[in-house]
Amino acid sequence: MAARLRPGILLPSGRITGETDRIVHLFPLPLGAARPDRLTSLCGELVITPGIAEVLTRLGGMPCAACLALATGVASG
Ligand SMILES: [Zn+2]
Repeated sequence: MAARLRPGILLPSGRITGETDRIVHLFPLPLGAARPDRLTSLCGELVITPGIAEVLTRLGGMPCAACLALATGVASG
């Protein structure tokens, strides 16, 4: 699943999300019917909770290179 922060979300740093904060991260789909309270991106950089992120139905925007590398098995760096 691909998702990014919604615009106008208050970050822990006190800033409001702008376009540069809206990198598209990849998340493992939860197994089973239970919906977790939070999901962590493959790269571990972004933890989303209900209401702060938008799920993308197709890839768009600026992708997270670390998530892509982990998802495709391509080493980064
Ligand atoms: Zn990522």
